Amino acid sequence: MNESIGDNLEKVRGQIEASASRAGRSAGAVALIAVSKAHPPEAVGEAIASGQLLFGENRVQEARAKIPRLPERARWHLIGHLQSNKIRQALPLFERLHGIDSLALAREVNRVAAELGLFPKVLLELNVAGEGSKFGFNPEAIRAEMEELLALDRLEIDGLMAIPPFTPEPEASRPYFRALRECRDRLAREFRVPLPELSMGMSHDFPIAIEEGATFVRVGTAIFGSRKGKAWKPEA
Ligand SMILES: *Cc1c(COP(=O)(O)O)cnc(C)c1O
Repeated sequence: MNESIGDNLEKVRGQIEASASRAGRSAGAVALIAVSKAHPPEAVGEAIASGQLLFGENRVQEARAKIPRLPERARWHLIGHLQSNKIRQALPLFERLHGIDSLALAREVNRVAAELGLFPKVLLELNVAGEGSKFGFNPEAIRAEMEELLALDRLEIDGLMAIPPFTPEPEASRPYFRALRECRDRLAREFRVPLPELSMGMSHDFPIAIEEGATFVRVGTAIFGSRKGKAWKPEA
């Protein structure tokens, strides 16, 4: 990608407005998370200079090295799976965790949050395609665990997240986005709890996700270009 990060951001914001408008939604109801994983702090700095303040990382170690190098006004979400031995490090860094993918992890985050005096905002990750290789609650089985999840007094559970199987054809993601929204509607009704947030949609399919109700889109490549390595590391 030859265009600058600022140009890319402008383009993505335009696409967000266009798809929100197609769906009769306000673009202000969709928060853009610029996924900076594997990119250096300088790239994040460029995005900040273009007015982007919300960023997503998927590795706690990488985020721990990157976040202190950037202005404090930047805000950070953890968008991937969280290992239980990283909870203590993760909680103070991130204003939201998107990948709460099991009851065991939720209990553990709740316990550590209590020790640290925190009330993290979290999203429950659903495995909408039933893929064996993926993290996440089964959309049916979660109903048996919902009462206990909602009783975890340190967690502010206010929505759902999903990562559908990748297909190059963006329309192929639509049924999964719709399934996540419908699952949210069902859980909200059955358990009488507002679950306003839906984290869904990446570079190739975020316009579709917005049409289906996304409130957070997680966009990396379309902003920062392709990722060279797996993670960014500071020079030794
Ligand atoms: C990497 C990542 C993204 C961003 O993917 P792009 O295709 O680069 O936009 C979004 N969500 C999660 C969970 C990711 O790990």
